[in-house]
Amino acid sequence: MSDTTRSKEVVGMDAETLTLALETIREYGRKHLTHERLIELDAKNECPGDILKDLYDPEKVAIMSLMIPEAYGGMGGSSLDLYRVVEALARFDLGVTTSVFATYLGMDPILVGGTEAQKKKWIGKIADTQCHVAYGATEAAAGSDLLRLQTRAERVMEGDKVIGYTLNGGKMWITNGGIAGVYTILARSAKGVSWFVMEKGTPGLTSGKHEDKHGIRLSDTTPLYLKDVFVPAENLIGEVEGKGLRQAQAVFGYTRLMVASMALGAGWQALEHAIRYSQVRLVGGIPLSNKQGFTHKLIIPFVARLEACRAYIEEVSRRLDGGEVGLQTEGAVAKLLASETANRAADNAIQAYGGNGYVREFPVEKIKRDVKITCIYEGTSEVLELTVFRERWQHNLNAEGRYYDKTAEEMDALHAKDPGAGAAAAAVALRALSRTLKACHEQKLTHNQIVMMKLGELICYAESAAAFCRAAAQEKHSDAVVFDRDTWRAMSRIHARHAASRITGEGSALVAGAGEAGATNPAEGLAAEACAKVQAGDIADMDLVAKNLPATIKA
Ligand SMILES: Cc1cc2nc3c(=O)[nH]c(=O)nc-3n(C[C@H](O)[C@H](O)[C@H](O)COP(=O)(O)OP(=O)(O)OC[C@H]3O[C@@H](n4cnc5c(N)ncnc54)[C@H](O)[C@@H]3O)c2cc1C
Repeated sequence: MSDTTRSKEVVGMDAETLTLALETIREYGRKHLTHERLIELDAKNECPGDILKDLYDPEKVAIMSLMIPEAYGGMGGSSLDLYRVVEALARFDLGVTTSVFATYLGMDPILVGGTEAQKKKWIGKIADTQCHVAYGATEAAAGSDLLRLQTRAERVMEGDKVIGYTLNGGKMWITNGGIAGVYTILARSAKGVSWFVMEKGTPGLTSGKHEDKHGIRLSDTTPLYLKDVFVPAENLIGEVEGKGLRQAQAVFGYTRLMVASMALGAGWQALEHAIRYSQVRLVGGIPLSNKQGFTHKLIIPFVARLEACRAYIEEVSRRLDGGEVGLQTEGAVAKLLASETANRAADNAIQAYGGNGYVREFPVEKIKRDVKITCIYEGTSEVLELTVFRERWQHNLNAEGRYYDKTAEEMDALHAKDPGAGAAAAAVALRALSRTLKACHEQKLTHNQIVMMKLGELICYAESAAAFCRAAAQEKHSDAVVFDRDTWRAMSRIHARHAASRITGEGSALVAGAGEAGATNPAEGLAAEACAKVQAGDIADMDLVAKNLPATIKA
């Protein structure tokens, strides 16, 4: 029986193979995923079968085999490899990336919860046929709340032996629903919710029409109908009923990291378009790129935050690849911050383009529509805020209110060793968070859902600031970082300062707003002072980033 976790160490691809894979994706994208082709498919609401076929084809882009473990005929990419691959593809089109990701996601219940025989059979089949896979969890009444699942799997008995299951029900918003060769379906069985695997063409399994969506229109999304669908008992994933929710939960650390990587790619793509445009667009007779209203307002805070997301994604990927289990909260932090940041970045890119940003002829309009989905699927932003809050709140209680103080002390030590990474500001952010959590606890403010959600959001800022400082203090930065050392470290400082001022300001406003009228916290004055102190040098750092961005992102 398989464990329901990804508990083994994953070595992943060697650096040369990863570079080759990324170059292949970029070369294919530049040739075939041109803006003209994408905007035409977007207008027609068409999922491009030829492109997806090329992406999976082992002789062409071979993207499917990157995620399949070597034992089942793939290249066995690690989380770190896959984040790079997903980000690279998302820079071209988020709909196409969603389709590929859904195939990864659809395989996960089998990889995580399947028996060895099931893995061999189904993963082997997917690898051999390079078919799409669909992950069928959501229903009309069960999206964020999967406990409301209504699709049923009734046992079919032969004497006292279960020989199979009959499934009845329906699924909604299923990516690859109309084009998949293999489906993993979550249904309620006698002993609880379970995953079942089935093939296209199984009698009774049909899909509805491809949805007319706001964005990611190149990905196929349909409802699924299950009417008296019979599957043999061996198609129950793991061959034990009632493990479905645990199996779904077990991969959230990793799958949400992948959605964060998609947001990272799309958000960066939007900003890159805006940066290039600013180099040729004249306002008041000079390039837009020379105006602080463009660089310091619309671009740099978001460049810094996206790079903070990168640092966080890489830190969590390494932990997953090292064999740490779960990390669902870390996955939620990464997805929440990256998707919300990418949305703001894409919105700002439209703003930077002015009227040109508002028409379909220019790429940022489509990116903005596409990227919105990253705040909805694999856990909505609100659900993730609650997830992050609940888990970290408990950790903090277990640590007697010192959970974030300990990370602040780590940042103090980092700052003493390396004053240029931004760790002093990160320490202020973490202490402000710790103080806010304490005040919320003492004043019993978390019966307000909005307080829990806001705390969830602030936690993302604090944790990402710490991760960015750790990465920025390294001698050698990740290969994914395209900036020189000074510029990237300036981004880390900018993000840490922003986290400090946001948590200090919003944290005390939150406590004041939810607490009793007139209640003040005597520590606030000192905290505001500490926060103001670490803001020194912020404009100079933004100037530095503004100067170096165009050299990295050429017109
Ligand atoms: C394009 C697309 C592709 C998708 N692909 C797939 C797929 O391949 N497979 C699959 O299984 N699903 C898929 N989904 C479904 C997706 O995961 C769900 O839409 C998502 O989980 C949200 O569920 P919902 O739509 O039912 O919204 P709801 O859960 O009804 O949410 C509605 C609102 O309520 C909020 N909310 C929810 N719970 C709470 C709470 N406890 N407190 C406060 N606010 C709350 C949400 O944040 C949201 O703002 C896809 C969806 C889309 C749009």
